Amino acid sequence: MEKSILAAKTFAALRSVIKAPVTELQYTNPYELLVAVLLSAQCTDARVNLVTPALFTRFPDPHALSCVTTAEILPYIQSVTFPNNKAAHLAKLGHVLMEKHGGSIPQSVEEIEKLPGCGHKTAEVVASVAFGIPAFPVDTHVFRVSNRIGLVSGKTVKEVEVQLKALFPKSEWSEGHHLLILHGRYTCKAQNPQCTSCVLATCCAYKAQMDMLPATVVGLKPRLGAYYCADCHQYCNQFIAITDENGLEQGSCPQCGSVHLHHTKTGKTAMKIRDFRV
Ligand code: SF4
Repeated sequence: MEKSILAAKTFAALRSVIKAPVTELQYTNPYELLVAVLLSAQCTDARVNLVTPALFTRFPDPHALSCVTTAEILPYIQSVTFPNNKAAHLAKLGHVLMEKHGGSIPQSVEEIEKLPGCGHKTAEVVASVAFGIPAFPVDTHVFRVSNRIGLVSGKTVKEVEVQLKALFPKSEWSEGHHLLILHGRYTCKAQNPQCTSCVLATCCAYKAQMDMLPATVVGLKPRLGAYYCADCHQYCNQFIAITDENGLEQGSCPQCGSVHLHHTKTGKTAMKIRDFRV
C-alpha cells in the first residue's frame, strides 16, 4: 500500500476510536505544561498528574521556582522517575526563565530546547500544545507504533520525526502525535499489542508479518528436547544461532539448518520478527 494512502487510512481509523486526541497531562498554562512535560520523561502521565497539583500550588510560576533550592523541590516530586535530576532541572529552569525570558515561556522549539531539562521532544510538545506551533514530537509510543504500522522505517527518533513530518501535512502533526501516543499507550502496547481488536489490523505491516509466522504445532514432546524442527521433524535442546537480514538472531536446526523451530512446551514458533522499541 502506498505510504500516503496508509497514512490517511491510519489517521481516519484512529480518529474513529480516539475521540479526544489531546495530552493526558493536567495543566492550566504554558508554565505548568512545561513542568509537567519535563517531569514526564521516562515516567507515566498518570504518575506526573499525581504530583503536579501540590507542586503547582507551592510553585505557581517561574518566579516561585527560581527562589528555591533543589532540596526544597525534591519532596514534591519524590514519586516520579529520576526525582533528584528533575528537581535540579526545575530549580535551574526557574532561574533561566526569570533571567533570560522575563518569567515567560519562550514560544519556539529552538528556545525551549535550550532550557534546563528540556530536550527536543519536550520542546516540540510544549511548542505544539501550548502555542499551536506545528510539531510532531516522537516519543517511545510514536516511534514504535509508526514503525510497526509501516508509516515510517526509522532506526532513530530523529529519522522517524523527519519521515512523519514528510508524510503528513503540518495541519495534522499535533493531532497525529496524540493519536499515535494514545494508540500506543492503550492498544499497540510494547509488550502485548492488542492486534485482534485493533482498528488498524487490516493495514498494519507488523500484524501482516505476525500473521505469516508458522502456526502453533500441537502434540510436541518436551521430554525429547526443548525445540522441534517442523522441517526435519527432529527434536533438539540447542539451536545454532544465525542472524537474519533484519539483524535479528534466529535459531536454526542443528540437523537441517531450518529456522522453523518450535518451543516444545508451547508449540509456538521460535522465529522472531523485527519490533521497534526505544
Ligand atoms: S495491528 Fe497490532 S501491531 Fe498493528 S497497530 Fe494494531 S496493535 Fe499495533
